[in-house]
Amino acid sequence: MALRSGRHFLQIPGPTNVPDRILRAIDSPTMDHRGPKFGQLGLEIIEGLKHVFQTQQPVVIYPASGTGAWEAALVNCCSAGDKLLMVETGHFASLWQKMAGKLGLQVELIATDWRHGADAAAIEAKLKEDRAHAIKAVCVVHNETSTGVTSRIASVRKAIDAAAHPALFMVDTISSLASIDYRHDDWGVDVTVAGSQKGLMLPPGLSFNAVSEKARKAAQSAKLPRSYWAWDEMLTANKSGYFPYTPATNLLYGLREAIRMLREEGLPQVFARHARHAEATRRAVRAWGLEILCANAEEYSNTLTAVMLPAGHDADALRKIILDAYDMSLGTGLGRLAGKVFRIGHLGDFNDLTLMGALAGVEMGLALARMPYKPAGVTAAMGYLAEAAGARTTGAKVRAV
Ligand SMILES: *Cc1c(COP(=O)(O)O)cnc(C)c1O
Repeated sequence: MALRSGRHFLQIPGPTNVPDRILRAIDSPTMDHRGPKFGQLGLEIIEGLKHVFQTQQPVVIYPASGTGAWEAALVNCCSAGDKLLMVETGHFASLWQKMAGKLGLQVELIATDWRHGADAAAIEAKLKEDRAHAIKAVCVVHNETSTGVTSRIASVRKAIDAAAHPALFMVDTISSLASIDYRHDDWGVDVTVAGSQKGLMLPPGLSFNAVSEKARKAAQSAKLPRSYWAWDEMLTANKSGYFPYTPATNLLYGLREAIRMLREEGLPQVFARHARHAEATRRAVRAWGLEILCANAEEYSNTLTAVMLPAGHDADALRKIILDAYDMSLGTGLGRLAGKVFRIGHLGDFNDLTLMGALAGVEMGLALARMPYKPAGVTAAMGYLAEAAGARTTGAKVRAV
């Protein structure tokens, strides 16, 4: 393949672009993970992660992709045959459900049309029906990366409380943490699952469990076999900043830098930036005359937008044209959405002009692919971003559309 000059546009909803500061932090000599200096690094990260998860509870770090942290959440809290209540918001939720089945757990599934998030009322009804309290945990994906729909976690917590049900609450935040407001403690979550390669701006390879006291207590009596994923040894070693087995040292250098960057920008500012880029993207999609997959405006994702193509048009053919012509990767349609949608990732290390580059690539791709569309998306997004930048300096409000 011929060399392609300039930076590749990685606009999939994870892995995301890794900022230079983080790349430089990773590019350091690997240190002795049992030596005296390592403990300081470990303690700084373990403390800093609490800020990112908005928790006072411990956060466990695994050298694994997000899938590992899914498994860790289940094997630490459950025994063979335990029942889980899961919501099939999309492809990732159904992968978590399949994993639960392979681990010998029984899943009661609440289906959706893959255009809406978790329905708190449906969860409340299922929990009220379960008078024997057989359901061990309620599992929800906060931001469903296959659809661009964000479930309202606080309302699910309220539903569990309204049913006065003792189930644990497990939430996958792999594509929302550090991009969309998420509160492990305030929202009464027992196990939060997260990964390194999306909002945290790191390469793939780390994943996390934030663990409540109730979950730690459940782990003491849970019987599923576990060793690598066991929280107890991890939490004991973490007290002094160390790990029971070799941690991914160089990714931890990167994680320390990512936490510093998030603190320098400020979490509220990080969330506002993602909200702004998501709104600009949606304005572009509407102006193109295309449809946003997420059907509920209260559940729009701030980290990605899934865009539907008119029937008879192949989203993967469009993605290929854009990759070939403009060196930009967009997210493919997953599971039942294959060929029907493409996904624009707007998360992580990102600013107004990177977004405009990405949207320009989509708009030019729509033209090249001879799609039915109106060439007005880039202008709509630019207008909104300019207005938002003005509002940031004058304090004025941006007009709703
Ligand atoms: C990316 C993602 C996963 C899968 O994580 P891996 O790191 O690929 O194992 C799971 N859930 C959600 C919501 C995701 O976005």
